[in-house]
Amino acid sequence: MIAYLERFIHENDSESRPTDDEKDQLPNIRHSLDLQGTINCVDTGLAGKDFGGMYTCEPLALIRPASPDDVARVVKAACRSPNLTVAARGNGHSINGQAMSDGGLVMDMRSTEGNHFEVVRMNGETFVDVSGGALWEDVLKRCVSEYKLAPRSWTDYLGLTVGGTLSNAGVSGQAFRFGPQTCNVAELDVVTGKGEIMTCNENENSELFFGALGGLGQFGIVTRARVAVQPAPDMVRWIRVVYAEFEDFTRCAEWLVTRPEGESFDYVEGFVFVNSVDDPANGWPTVPLDPDQGFDPSRIPRTAGSVLYCLEVALHYQKTDHPSTVDKAVNTLLGRLGFIEDMKFQVDVSYVEFLLRVKHVEVSARANGTWDAPHPWLNMFVSKRDIADFDRVVFKRMLKNGVGGPMLVYPLLRSKWDSRTSVALPADGEIFYLVALLGFTMPYPKAPSAEKLVSQNKEIVQFCVNEGLDFKLYLPHYQSEEEWRRHFGSQWSRFAERKDSFDPLAILAPGQKIFKRVSHL
Ligand code: FAD
Repeated sequence: MIAYLERFIHENDSESRPTDDEKDQLPNIRHSLDLQGTINCVDTGLAGKDFGGMYTCEPLALIRPASPDDVARVVKAACRSPNLTVAARGNGHSINGQAMSDGGLVMDMRSTEGNHFEVVRMNGETFVDVSGGALWEDVLKRCVSEYKLAPRSWTDYLGLTVGGTLSNAGVSGQAFRFGPQTCNVAELDVVTGKGEIMTCNENENSELFFGALGGLGQFGIVTRARVAVQPAPDMVRWIRVVYAEFEDFTRCAEWLVTRPEGESFDYVEGFVFVNSVDDPANGWPTVPLDPDQGFDPSRIPRTAGSVLYCLEVALHYQKTDHPSTVDKAVNTLLGRLGFIEDMKFQVDVSYVEFLLRVKHVEVSARANGTWDAPHPWLNMFVSKRDIADFDRVVFKRMLKNGVGGPMLVYPLLRSKWDSRTSVALPADGEIFYLVALLGFTMPYPKAPSAEKLVSQNKEIVQFCVNEGLDFKLYLPHYQSEEEWRRHFGSQWSRFAERKDSFDPLAILAPGQKIFKRVSHL
């Protein structure tokens, strides 16, 4: 069987791709791999695309594993070949082909999503064991409806898999308190690049555990994660307030994220928007939380510039809490924030509705075609030291007309991130900012083209490099080992050593373009 697969991809060039006759042989391959799941060489469309919509490739086969055993069999088969690679695909929401394998095997981890769901109590704490291929939105719904529990740390959008976000970091407005999702996991089951099935945690196989968290899929395929949970609140008061000055916005946001637990909001994020009425994707209309809420521009100070800033916060509460208790807690905190008077928007929604808030965006974007259009997104971590310079040049000048979608900016705390994981952060300081430029290329008349956004992203990164800003790309995308070395900086040797230990042939996650496949040791 291996010889059969090898014939397809000798040089990884188009001539070595499988012919239709060869594809017809797939039932034989399936038989020799003895998978419980499926293997498909004909209809691999899903595996050659991602949410970014800028890269396509043709994999050899799309495999839908049924179990860790299946995953291990496929990885072992690839190890025995001279050049096959294996990409785990979560929900394919990468931007730059990170979950692809050109001419290789793509494993659709969604097929394993039902394998695990169990609440576990350990050392006085509560966790839920979930599959690497599970969608966070399903984890949320089951945890809340069956146990009234919920993970503590989220992403803004939940149509992403557990394995996909844990391979990066998983960041949202709760990360200032609990750290990213990678810091809210107690144990993983991982299939390494050698095809070994290993359980790992802080004490057992700890190098694999910390390596896999934020490891860009380089060290193993996550088949189970033990995720920390807490009692789920019933309700959320969701609030947006507007600032004219970046300095005021950052001072308030930093004050909130450095307050002790119980003395701040439960969620803190922020975004930049264009100071313009007639821009539905970038301007004033993006701020109100309810269509009935008006945006009163007469409140904006005359001194305001091309962009304004919105601080977005939320407070959890129970239905049994007296309304005056919630009002008091919210008003006490808001009273300390110096936002533009009366520029406040608020709604009360259920906790599940709040966490699924981006689902509404997905539904309408699918309806108008935006979801399937290219998304040249740029995500970065920028240190507090340099965020004012970033604002002055990037937000106020380069992006004064927006990106055709959200431009997030909010502070995070380094002490909540575990330096033993593989995630790369800016070099200095306790506070750094997440910056996410999430442009959509359709359907508004003013929407920028994909080409424009790509070149704008390059200019922004170049500006940061030229000016010596302390930053790292989040969801990084580089083409050469040299660039990756620079990205990881002093962590590079640890990253490369972990690769040697757990995936010495560089079988896994070839779409990240970090290591080249080695034919044999
Ligand atoms: P994929 O894109 O399928 O895979 C990503 C990488 O992980 C690939 O290298 C793949 O090989 C690897 N991988 C996938 N599954 C596994 C596994 N089981 N084991 C090991 N490796 C695996 N990120 C945030 O942090 N916060 C946000 O708020 C946020 N919002 C987003 C909103 C949208 C609409 C989109 C499109 C993305 C968002 N992201 C956010 C980014 C997102 O976290 C990453 O793109 C993530 O990788 C997507 O998960 P996925 O399941 O689609 O992974």
